[in-house]
Amino acid sequence: MPPQNTAWPEHRNFLDSAREKDATDVLAPFRQRFHVPPHGSGEALYFTGNSLGLQPVGARDIIEGELEDWRKFGVEAHFEGRRPWVSYHREATDDLAAIMGAQPSEVVAMNALTVNLHLLLISFYRPSGRRTKLMIEAGAFPSDRYAALSQLRLHGLDPKEHLIELAPREGEVTLRTEDITDRIAREGDALACVMLCGVQYYTGQWMPMADITAAAHAVGATCGFDLAHAAGNVPMALHDWNVDFACWCGYKYLNGGPGCTAGAFVHERHAARPDLPRLEGWWGHSEARRFKMEPDFELMHGAEGWQTSNAPVMNMAALLASLAEFRAAGMGRLREKSLALTAFLEAGIQAVAASTGAPLEILTPSDPDARGCQLSVVAHGQGKALFQHLTDHGVIVDWREPAVIRMAPVPLYNSFADVADFLGILHDGLRGDA
Ligand SMILES: *Cc1c(COP(=O)(O)O)cnc(C)c1O
Repeated sequence: MPPQNTAWPEHRNFLDSAREKDATDVLAPFRQRFHVPPHGSGEALYFTGNSLGLQPVGARDIIEGELEDWRKFGVEAHFEGRRPWVSYHREATDDLAAIMGAQPSEVVAMNALTVNLHLLLISFYRPSGRRTKLMIEAGAFPSDRYAALSQLRLHGLDPKEHLIELAPREGEVTLRTEDITDRIAREGDALACVMLCGVQYYTGQWMPMADITAAAHAVGATCGFDLAHAAGNVPMALHDWNVDFACWCGYKYLNGGPGCTAGAFVHERHAARPDLPRLEGWWGHSEARRFKMEPDFELMHGAEGWQTSNAPVMNMAALLASLAEFRAAGMGRLREKSLALTAFLEAGIQAVAASTGAPLEILTPSDPDARGCQLSVVAHGQGKALFQHLTDHGVIVDWREPAVIRMAPVPLYNSFADVADFLGILHDGLRGDA
């Protein structure tokens, strides 16, 4: 990774500027709290925190602590452990609530993302009479689309008639706020539920979540979000925005490790509603009476009432290590750095495009309020050779055919120097100076 050898004269300016920004970055020390994969004698340029966040250094201690409690106490660790397993999911609650802009009673760590999406759709997509339609975005993450289609079929509804897939205008790649809200208004009382992403995984667009929720409620529909790419990336206020339900995974920006326990949000106004149909299990049943093993189900208050099973302790341990870093950094400061970091990357990509003549197109909205940290860039006319060049130089980005590079400079562990180094490598890859 020798960025100083780049053939790009302008690179010096970006490097100098990056050093200046890193020197005054109050979050810079957090990089040491994560394991950045090695490359050669140095570190990789890791820009795929949108896919799998890096391992928190603190994860090992927490996981080893749970292993030790298991050795020492066996089943008794459910009550005797340092973090009693019987209420392990609650170790994550306050931090998740802060990250999502929710009350603690509104969030719960449980299951996996798509499982949670199904559990919540069972409760909040209740087609009846004229009101039957479910709205998702065209180009939704496949798992979300599969979930939506199968939910429709569960109700005996034909997706062709009852699934709305919201598409951008002809020739555009992201959705306009007025197009979303107009469509919701037009569907009116035919619309049962709006279920969109918070941040779109492919384009990086941050949806106008408050506007969408208000529009859905205005026509009497419920509104929920898949926050896989929003959780830990953009600041949210799920409670104040009146979002009905949401879910996210723990392994992207939340750095909980592969297959990490996901999360769910249910607004407080639905907290004590035994009338809402749901798939029940013993962990959603009254905590005080759970071990009495009685036949009757008594619903728990809040999001915890959607739990079915006891917490997967080992699988949540690393998440707790990461949440501690989020607590220390704070979403406000993370967002502030994120805005600067992504703007720096954006300006750099434009400069590289200008000096190489390569037609680099950024799909992600240029409005900072309509995006998180991720930029999705189309390198028109470039093939796998460019991706190979980036990989050979220690750049880890997500590459999708045809030549779409998704990259997420993550404020918790990426530096401005990471971005500047990347720009030099990108420049040379485009010039063929590799
Ligand atoms: C990452 C992602 C998923 C993955 O689902 P899992 O249930 O965690 O395997 C689903 N939906 C979206 C929008 C995602 O970004």
